[in-house]
Amino acid sequence: MSAVAEAAVVGRPLIEVRGLRVDYGIGPDAVHAVVDADLTLLSGQVLGLAGESGSGKSTLAHAMTRLLRPPGIITGGEVRYHRPRGQPVDLLAAGEEDMRAVRWSQISVVLQSAMHALNPVLPVGVQLTDVLRAHVPGMDRAARRARAASLLDMVGIPAGRLDSYPHQLSGGMRQRVMIAMALALEPQIVIMDEPTTALDVVTQREILEELMELRERLGFAVLFITHDLSLLVEIADSIAVMYAGRLVEQATAEALYQAPRHPYTLGLLHSFPALHGPRKQMTGIPGSPPDLRALPDGCVFHPRCPYVMDRCVTQSPPLLVGAGRRVAACWLHDGTGPVPAELAKAEPGGSQAGAPAAAGAGRKQS
Ligand code: SF4
Repeated sequence: MSAVAEAAVVGRPLIEVRGLRVDYGIGPDAVHAVVDADLTLLSGQVLGLAGESGSGKSTLAHAMTRLLRPPGIITGGEVRYHRPRGQPVDLLAAGEEDMRAVRWSQISVVLQSAMHALNPVLPVGVQLTDVLRAHVPGMDRAARRARAASLLDMVGIPAGRLDSYPHQLSGGMRQRVMIAMALALEPQIVIMDEPTTALDVVTQREILEELMELRERLGFAVLFITHDLSLLVEIADSIAVMYAGRLVEQATAEALYQAPRHPYTLGLLHSFPALHGPRKQMTGIPGSPPDLRALPDGCVFHPRCPYVMDRCVTQSPPLLVGAGRRVAACWLHDGTGPVPAELAKAEPGGSQAGAPAAAGAGRKQS
């Protein structure tokens, strides 16, 4: 059984992020871009990471994989990666050799801009075979070329395009090449950082459908980062919501959509129209995301929150476990007072949304 197939058998933890902290800069002027993040990615799962621009989503993902560039500094926490075999390894403490063994072959990353990620002066076939040459030493030239052709075919690009340069491909094709490269070594985990944001909606839809088919077939887990919560509701099993560097809520996609607990999640859900059901006024979220260099005291969301209370202005809420074991960083769920009806809806299907989602539990049928 391949490592990927083995990993896909049960929803076991693949990556456990605990107390991750990331700063930009040092000393009193340091900007705290990620604060005490806890996240678990299970095998075979699509975990969505949502939030507005600048909320720390990409910083968190880059820190997890040690791809963070200066002035970003990891100041605390642990990223425990459960390898297919052997003991778990803390990626933040691992040596460069261990990281090289993990990157690409076990954890790969697809970035937003394929035009910038691909080498513009090399045909895409060469870039694909380079990956295989570096990571699969026993593979001869003909086998590498054949594998590169099959990878292109897997993402819907004819093998005849192996000799095309990136500028000869459309934006959608370039992003497909990036996905093929990410899957070349059959990783357990693919981190996708806004992979379709630069594409038109039709191409975006096509690529996402192909991607989800590949995930079903190959069994890899996905950490999907986007500002588009409506997209995550469609494709993710579980969703974590970030605001100003903090994870403020996490639940199965269905539970988060049907019964949000955090006012910020509720605001995001009211920022896009529902395709079905009665027409509703979109209310959105007033104001703008905070400047991380000058965060408000107390709950960082309080200047924009319609439910703000006195204590919110001075006290920062921890992740509180409310009704149905749902977790949200909001004082409304500390059990001392009434919770507004729109933030206390019943769990769909009685799911235990505070716990990590079982693979496939929250997926919508498109
Ligand atoms: Fe709103 Fe207060 Fe909850 Fe923050 S803690 S989200 S300000 S109600």
